[in-house]
Order: sequence, then C-alpha cells, then structure tokens
Amino acid sequence: MAGNVWVYVDHFKGAALPASYEAIAAAKTVGSKVTALIFGQGVDALAQGAFHYGADEVLLGDDASLADYRAEAYASLLSKLAKEQQPDAVLFPTSTRGREIAAMAAIDLDTGVLPDITEIKDEGGTLAAIHPIYAGKLLSKVVVNAKPALITLRGRAFGKPVADASRSGTVTKVAAAVAEGDLQTKVVDYATVEGRVSLADAGVIVSGGRGVANNPALTPPAEITDEKEKEIWRAQQGFIMIGELAQALNGAVGASRAAVDAGYIPYANQVGQTGKVVSPDLYIALGISGAIQHLAGMRTSKVIVAVNKDPDAPIFKLARFGVVGDLYEIVPALTKALKERLSK
Ligand code: FAD
Repeated sequence: MAGNVWVYVDHFKGAALPASYEAIAAAKTVGSKVTALIFGQGVDALAQGAFHYGADEVLLGDDASLADYRAEAYASLLSKLAKEQQPDAVLFPTSTRGREIAAMAAIDLDTGVLPDITEIKDEGGTLAAIHPIYAGKLLSKVVVNAKPALITLRGRAFGKPVADASRSGTVTKVAAAVAEGDLQTKVVDYATVEGRVSLADAGVIVSGGRGVANNPALTPPAEITDEKEKEIWRAQQGFIMIGELAQALNGAVGASRAAVDAGYIPYANQVGQTGKVVSPDLYIALGISGAIQHLAGMRTSKVIVAVNKDPDAPIFKLARFGVVGDLYEIVPALTKALKERLSK
C-alpha cells in the first residue's frame, strides 16, 4: 500500500462535486491512510461526507481568504501542507479547479502530474495510473518518480462510491498560506447561467449531432427565409425533442462539435476531444457519425446506444445497441415508451 494519500475535495460554496467522493473512495483502495483537504469558509460540514466515503482525517483550511476558490490561495496552501507533511500522493477530481491546483502545486513541489486517469493501482508502494491517450485508443500506464504524485481522476470512471454513515475521523484545522493582502485576484461576483447541466456528473447523456438538422418535413416559420437560419431552427426543434428524451431519463443533453460549430447548441454541451470528457452509465448518440474526436469524449461510457441513418457509421462499431433509422422517427417513439414504462 502507498502510505498517506491525500484527496482534494472540490466543492462550490460547500456543495462537493460527486467526483471528490469518488476520489476519496479510490484513495482508500491504494492508501493506508486517507486525508481529505477541505478549503473554504464555513465548510466544516463537508468533513462528515469525507469521512463517510473513506477519509480518516480532514485538514480543514477555514478562512475568509479561502471563501472563494482562487488558485493561488488554494495551491499555495496545498503545497505548504505537502512540504510539511510529505504525503505519498494527492488525488484531485479532474475538474477545472482540480487540474489548475494540481498543475500549480506540481511546480511548487517539483513533482509530476498524471491528469485525467481512469484507473489507479498500488504496485509495491508506487502508484501506477492508467491514462487514456490518442483520443482514448490506447491506455498508457504511468507513474510519477517524485513525491508526492499528483493525480487527477476522471469523474465517474471509478464507479459510484458507497457511503458509510458510521465512519468518522479527526479534523485538524490549518491556517491559510497567503494573507488576503498578498493575493493578486479577487472574486467580485457569480452569475448563474440558467439551464446549464453538468455533463460531467450526469448518469445519462443524450447527444445530438449534425444529423439533428436533417428533418426536411419540419417547416420553419415564414419569417425565417435564410437557408442557414432554417437549418438552425430545424436543429433547435430537434434538440428540444432530444431534451425531452433526456428529461424522461433524468439525463443531460450533449452534442457533437459539428452541432456546436453550426450554431445548433452552445459549446457547453460539446462532448469530445475539445469538449467535455464524460463517462455516463448510458450515452445515446443521435445523428452522430462517430468521429475519433467525438469518441475521445465518450468512449468510456458504460452503455452506448446509437441511432443513425447510415448503417456504416463508425459509431456503430463502439455502440452496444445500434438502431439504423431516422432519429426523428426513433426518438419520439423511444421517449413515449420510456415515459410509459417509467411511470408504472
Ligand atoms: P457528421 O460527421 O456530419 O455526422 C452526422 C451523422 O448524422 C451522419 O452519420 C449521418 O448518417 C447521420 N444522420 C443524418 N441525418 C440523420 C437522421 N435524420 N437520423 C439519424 N441519423 C442521421 N467532434 C466532436 O464531436 N467533439 C469534439 O470535441 C471534437 N474535437 C475536434 C478537434 C479537432 C482538432 C478536430 C480536427 C475535430 C474535432 N471534432 C470534434 C470534429 C469531428 O472530427 C467531427 O467532424 C464531428 O464529430 C462530426 O460531428 P457529427 O457526427 O455530428 O457530424
């Protein structure tokens, strides 16, 4: 077993990312002691969750200067603690914040980062990680020769952790490493973007591609005369239909880059090499051909279902279930059948 494995608990205003608990549960499988790092202000309640998922100890940085996430404040504190206490490894969820802190701390600690790994193993005290490369076509096995190894874990790649409410541990308070006056940035405000779904956390994702615009039977309103605008209008109606299927499955809506680039749906929904990397239990690809850059973002989904008019579409090579047909016929029928089944 590796010795003390730390886990950075990523949260927003006290709401932990599920991937933080996945990381704690993964740490438990390779470390003899698991320490959770919780930074913020008034976030001591998070310690219970960390204990329930497997942490033995919590290092709690509770300070006004840590109230808002700022990479400089968080990474400095993590580096200071790691220099003092010499953990064997620090795990992070592969979130924007997790990646950022890991990269900054690696420079302070003169060590390496293994990003977005999907498996972790203890090999005689050294942690070896599996990291998908070449758009997920190859799995490379990687180790860090320096300590601590900084490792970010792909969300949902480690399965759903099980909480044990009877577990508890010790909380040690730690002081902030940088005084407010020495921090170069300040968070001024947050604005909520309505209707955003977290693709990373979704158990079901229903994604649409360029094929979603292909429904000549849909007639746009007379005031839309431009051909490109007609195409976008058709695709948007299609994504409303896809949203209904996603809703019936309590899932999120994703998209290919072609759909995003064509203006059918915002970039936040893009899955793939240059979009989000996801691992849902169920991924439904509608009118998506299955280009390697799209597969890079969803290849590790547990069950893949594809609907495509073209029987030779590459997506069918990866899909467990494939339907050759028009998504405009299949999707409404599927949504109707699911609603009926799920209401029973
Ligand atoms: P297409 O390849 O055009 O496929 C549309 C499919 O819809 C076809 O298979 C067709 O048979 C089917 N179809 C049409 N009408 C219907 C219908 N009515 N019913 C059912 N099926 C229908 N792509 C990504 O997705 N994500 C990325 O992050 C990404 N990053 C990239 C990065 C780089 C550097 C590059 C070069 C490319 C990247 N791409 C990415 C683009 C990628 O190469 C493909 O161009 C893109 O994935 C194609 O999207 P698509 O499958 O929706 O479109």
